[in-house]
This record gives sequence, C-alpha cells and structure tokens, in this order.
Amino acid sequence: MQKVVILGTGGTIAGTAHDPSRAWAYQAAQLSVAQLIEAVPALQGVPLEAVQVAQVDSKDMSWSVWRQLGRALHVQLERDDVAGVVITHGSDTLEETACLLQALHDGVKPVVLTAAMYPATSPHADGPGNLRDAVHVVQEAARRCLGGVVAVMHGRVWSAHDVRKAHSHALDAFDGGGASPLVTLARVDAEPDGGLVRGLAGIGLRAEVDQLDEPTVEIWPSAWPTCGRFGWGYLEVNPPRVEIVCSHADADGWLVRAMLAHAQTSERPLRGIVVAGTGHGTLHEGLTQALREATQQGVTVWRSSRVARGGVLEREGDEWPAVPHLTAAQARVALTLWLLGVGTLDRLGAWDLS
Ligand code: ASP
Repeated sequence: MQKVVILGTGGTIAGTAHDPSRAWAYQAAQLSVAQLIEAVPALQGVPLEAVQVAQVDSKDMSWSVWRQLGRALHVQLERDDVAGVVITHGSDTLEETACLLQALHDGVKPVVLTAAMYPATSPHADGPGNLRDAVHVVQEAARRCLGGVVAVMHGRVWSAHDVRKAHSHALDAFDGGGASPLVTLARVDAEPDGGLVRGLAGIGLRAEVDQLDEPTVEIWPSAWPTCGRFGWGYLEVNPPRVEIVCSHADADGWLVRAMLAHAQTSERPLRGIVVAGTGHGTLHEGLTQALREATQQGVTVWRSSRVARGGVLEREGDEWPAVPHLTAAQARVALTLWLLGVGTLDRLGAWDLS
C-alpha cells in the first residue's frame, strides 16, 4: 500500500492554549506534524510519513515558505511509494497557498490542504477530524487517479481555486465563493475518542475531544481540479512585487499614487496591482484614474471583487482583466505567477493555466 506524506507548516491545527475556556487565546504552530498524527487514533496503522516543512502562523505566510513547500512536494510526489500529500496549514492564508499550488502542480497525484479553527488542545478541536478526512481524501483521490489540489475542512472538499475562508471564527469557516464543494463527507458517529488525550498527554497539555467521526465519501465528481504543466521551479526565483488595493467610498487613488512614487526605488519594484473592486469588480472614478497612471508606468492591473461570492466575470471591452473567481488574495498570487510566466490571458482576459 502506498504512503500518504503529511507536510506540516504550522497553523492553528498545530496550536496550543493553556486555558481552554478562552478559545481565542492560543498560539498557532506549536506542535509538530508527527504529534498531530499521533493524536488521531483513526490514523493508526495507516501508512503515513511526516515531514515538518515549516512552523508558522499562516498570517505570516511568505514566498520563502512556499519555496520550501514546493521543494518538499517535488521530492515527495516523485516517490513511487507515495500516493499523495496532505499539507497541514493555517486557515488564514490557506486559500492563497491552495491557489499557488494548483497553478504549479504538474504531477498526477493528489495534494490536500487542511487546517483547523480550534487549537489542538481545545475541547472542540477540529484538527484531528480534518486531518483524518484529508488523509482519507488523498487515498480515495489516488485510487481514482485524481490529481490536483483540494482543501478539506469540516467535512467538505473544496477545489483549490474556489476555497476561501468565509468566517473569522466559526468551525464551519470555509466556502467556495458561490461554488459548491466537490465532495461532502458523510459523517457517521463513531466511538468516543480518547486518542487525542493520549496523544497530547505526553507533552503535558490538556486535551479532550468529544468524539471523532468516521467519514464516508459519497459522491465523487468529475470536475476535480487537474494538474497543470508549470512545475515547482517557479518558486525558486524571487517574486515580483504585487500589491492589493480596495475600491471604496472616497477611494481617490491616493494609495496607488503613493505606491507609484516609491515603485522604482524599492529593492522589489512594483510590478502589479490587484484591485478588489466593489460588486462586479467596479471601481471608484478616482481610483480608476490612478490605476490608469499605474498602467502607463508599466504596472499590470487585474481586477477582483471585494464581495464574498460570485467573483467578477470578464467582459468584452474591460479596461483591465478580471480574475473570474479568485479572491483578491488569490488574485495577487495569480498575478505574481503570471508575471513570472505562469499561464496566459485568454481572449477576454481570464488567467488560463492550460
Ligand atoms: N492564524 C492561524 C493561521 O492561519 C489561524 C488558523 O490556522 O486557523 O495559522
């Protein structure tokens, strides 16, 4: 049986708190990925390997962590004895990492990101169940020859380009920006679980988990993300600077002009701006004027929306390309990659990875 490799990068899933009654008072990225695996009884006997790639709160995610991740993925996905990879990640920037990895993944094996909203020591820790589900999804996807990048959270599987954090503190925090989940994992209550307590007791932390559920994968769609052709090598270069601005009442372009004033003086000159427009990607007149000045100075502008669902559909005659379904943060990743040569713009200006 092939192995599933779990790459740890930190996040709340690896977080600990010393006062479980204060759910928000914890430190992300404290436990190793090996400790996380050990704490999930359902994973005992499953052929797994743990690799600690990074240990960060994902609010601090960076290109250099992505580079480490790309290198680790390259090594692990090449192995004949590996079915696929799970990445434990913070929830805050999971959508950016997912978008990046989906654009670059050029193999045929599944890569599944997972996270947690409550730290590992919480009585309501969701990480163990999510980790177990993520491993299960890798195994099932590999068995069905499905590659590509997906995220598994709270019993649902999301495509890498759809997934986004949609709630700042609820357990059910992710959605697809209007797109449906690829798979809903049916949850069947199983035995109450003392395994997490056992797993964490050794390091002196309090942990009680009500129960872990056994997942059953019900319907698997054909619309699974497919792997591209670009490869992890793009992470080896230094990325161009791409910033995000938002359109809002009184947006007169001041911020854009301030950026332009320093654009060429910094070590990494400004190369791109993603603008999170109102509604269907519309922009304040004042901001529009400043963005035209940016374009004249060679800065690439792409539009997204600050609205949570629906995205911006590209239309004939658009002044700047729209990034149909990505969040502004994902669009920043996409534009960065596009400036490095990843993908093309189709006739209407959408980012095309084929
Ligand atoms: N700040 C944490 C992180 O993104 C939040 C989480 O993981 O839920 O690493």
